Amino acid sequence: MITTEAKVKPIDCQHYIEGRYIPSKSGKTFENINPATEEVLGIVAEGGKEEVDLAVQAARKALKGEWGKLPLRKRSAILRKIGDLILERKDELAMLETLDTGKPLWLSKNVDIDRAAYNFHFFADYMISVGTETYHQDDIAIHYAVRRPVGVVGLINPWNLPLLLMTRKLAPALAGGNTVVMKPSEVTPMTATVLAQICSDAGVPDGVVNMVHSFGETGAAITSHPDVDAIAFTGETVTGSAIMKAAAPTLKKLSFELGGKNPNIIFADADLDDVVETTLRSSFMNQGEVCLCGSRIYVERTIMDEFLEKFVNETEKLTVGDPMNPNTKVGALVSEEHYRKVQSYLELVPQEGGKFLTGGKQAQGLEKGYYIEPTIITGLGKDSRCVREEIFGPVVTVIPFDTEEELLEQVNDTHYGLSASLWTTNIKRAHRIAGQIEAGMVWINTWFLRDLRTPFGGMKHSGLGREGGAHSFDFYTELSNITIKL
Ligand code: NAD
Repeated sequence: MITTEAKVKPIDCQHYIEGRYIPSKSGKTFENINPATEEVLGIVAEGGKEEVDLAVQAARKALKGEWGKLPLRKRSAILRKIGDLILERKDELAMLETLDTGKPLWLSKNVDIDRAAYNFHFFADYMISVGTETYHQDDIAIHYAVRRPVGVVGLINPWNLPLLLMTRKLAPALAGGNTVVMKPSEVTPMTATVLAQICSDAGVPDGVVNMVHSFGETGAAITSHPDVDAIAFTGETVTGSAIMKAAAPTLKKLSFELGGKNPNIIFADADLDDVVETTLRSSFMNQGEVCLCGSRIYVERTIMDEFLEKFVNETEKLTVGDPMNPNTKVGALVSEEHYRKVQSYLELVPQEGGKFLTGGKQAQGLEKGYYIEPTIITGLGKDSRCVREEIFGPVVTVIPFDTEEELLEQVNDTHYGLSASLWTTNIKRAHRIAGQIEAGMVWINTWFLRDLRTPFGGMKHSGLGREGGAHSFDFYTELSNITIKL
């Protein structure tokens, strides 16, 4: 039987400007590579400053058009329709996401595409209920705030959860009445290309959603463009810093979701089977290429041996390989460049005094593709680069601790502050420690559990601002206060 997915073919990717797919004026293109097979999937238009100018002009023009003036319920219905169309095309989008990223197909379907659709369904509901502030100042005045779109927003995204992260920005941006210029990662251009068509099919007017494909320099042309009012960026901390500089002369509103090196803390009183099951996911899901992965595992010394035995044992059972195989738990890393980066950290491990309990090398028996075995390392000191730097692959370090004080010192000894997981059955301790971890999100006895109403984002060098519910809405709208003298 031929499944729907099997019929899906990779696509060539062009820019999407003012409701049309167009090539680059320069005629430049680049190849899109399947990381699981190293084969060429298709050709991508390589945009430059010219395409960014066109996209921004189109977005600027559309800002004056019907989009921002549509009755709230009509705009909400269009958002809902986008979510519905994403679900209708789920098999196709999941296949394109897997071809681009190397992640298991079942994961693309159940996490990436489902959550992408939900981003639209959530904000379609949310936008209807959002209010503003009103103050009645005695018999002197009434003050009330109105919401307006921010304007043209640049949405710049990474490669690890391409559609999920793009839609997490696009949905609230559209809900707020803005127009956008999207720049997907050059490594994973396909699902965003289809998303542009889906938006049009759902009734989004031409020029509201625009997209330029290309590399970092083209992203930089968006961030420094004088007619772009805000930038929502997810990616590496160093890129966030470069964007901040580029955006400074025009004082753009900024939202950053950046890197992480998140602790996963396990106390001796935790339910160890539950810990191991979830820690397998928080370590190796999506090949460890999730900003929220818990790559620094701290274990209370009294259970270190028992934990390691179970954790290594279960890790060795994980199937690594073909992303199309429904049994595969760990697929290919996203690109040759990223594979080399992860390998370079593995080479550092013996030099830094570390020991591989499992993994540490290219996955065996796979001739092509960028596969690395799920890797567990012990014996590294707190100053080791593998403990301090974001590796963003299926690689975790395990470190024992004896006291809460020592634990907190190590956990917070990082310039990252994205998320943390904490395992204990002692609720007082859980609350006490959670409040002292310098991270934007702390999970107690779980991981990756999300409610879109809650604040999502990082402290320190892991981000600027928060996404989710009211936080997203505040970023994608401007409040203007109006005072009536009585
Ligand atoms: P990256 O910073 O290299 O690239 C992200 C995007 O920015 C790409 O589209 C890229 O072309 C563009 N870009 C690169 N240089 C630019 C510049 N100077 N100006 C404007 N745009 C530029 O990140 P990546 O390697 O694609 O993604 C991995 C990183 O993303 C990891 O650090 C990971 O932790 C982070 N991430 C964070 C979150 C979060 O929610 N905090 C979620 C997912 C990924």
